[in-house]
Amino acid sequence: MTEPVLIVGGGPAGLAAAHALASVGQRSVLVEKESRLGGAPILSGYAKLVPSGEWAKDAIGGMVSRVEGNSLIAVHKGCTVKEFGGEAGAFRASLSNGASCDVGAAILCTGFTHFDSVNKPEWGFGTFPDVVTTTQVEQMISSGKGVRCPSDGRKPERVAILLCVGSRDRQIGREWCSKIC
Ligand SMILES: Cc1cc2nc3c(=O)[nH]c(=O)nc-3n(C[C@H](O)[C@H](O)[C@H](O)COP(=O)(O)OP(=O)(O)OC[C@H]3O[C@@H](n4cnc5c(N)ncnc54)[C@H](O)[C@@H]3O)c2cc1C
Ligand code: SF4
Repeated sequence: MTEPVLIVGGGPAGLAAAHALASVGQRSVLVEKESRLGGAPILSGYAKLVPSGEWAKDAIGGMVSRVEGNSLIAVHKGCTVKEFGGEAGAFRASLSNGASCDVGAAILCTGFTHFDSVNKPEWGFGTFPDVVTTTQVEQMISSGKGVRCPSDGRKPERVAILLCVGSRDRQIGREWCSKIC
C-alpha cells in the first residue's frame, strides 16, 4: 500500500500497530485525542504491569519513544478525526488541527473508559472515602507511597477486593465482561 494507514488512538494498541506497520516499511498517521501518547496505562498512572513486572511508564514509555522517533509515523496529539470518507484503499481524513491526509486504510484503537463506580452506590464508593477503585490503587502504588487509606493516610491492616464491579451486571444493563481479568 503506498498511502499511509490512519491509526486512531495512541494507546498500547495504536502504538503497537504503528510500530508493526513501520517495521515492514508502511507509513502511518497516528491521531491521539489527548496531549500524551500511551493510553490508559500512562494517562491513568498504572503501576507495574502484568506479566512483565515492568513499571507502566517504562514499558509503555518505550513504545511511545519508538513511535515518536520513527520517520514513517506522523503523530498528531491533542487531535481527533473530524471527517472521514472515500472508499477502500482511498480514504481522506480531516483532522481537528486543520490537517488532512489521504490514507489507504484505517485502524481504530480507541480503547476503553473505566467504569464509574459511583454507578454502583451499594459498594460505598463516593460515600466512604476508604472505598477506592483499582485505578486509584494503581496511582497510589505509582506515587511510591504505597496503598494508604484516603481518610487519614494510614496503611490499611486488611483490604477487601471486590471483583467485577460494573461487569456482568443486569442492574446496569451490562451482562458481559472482558473475560480476561
Ligand atoms: C486498572 C487496570 C490495570 C491494568 N493492568 C494491566 C497490566 O498489568 N497488564 C496489561 O497487559 N494490561 C493491563 N490493563 C489493561 C490495559 O490497560 C489495556 O489492555 C490497554 O490499555 C488497552 O490498550 P488500547 O490501546 O486498546 O486502549 P487504551 O489504553 O484505552 O488507549 C486508547 C487511546 O485512544 C485514545 N482515543 C480514544 N478515543 C479517541 C478518538 N476519538 N480520537 C483519538 N484518540 C482517541 C485515548 O485517549 C487513548 O490514548 C489494565 C487495565 C486496568 C483498567
Ligand atoms: S473476567 Fe472474571 S474477574 Fe474480570 S469481570 Fe469477568 S468474571 Fe469478573
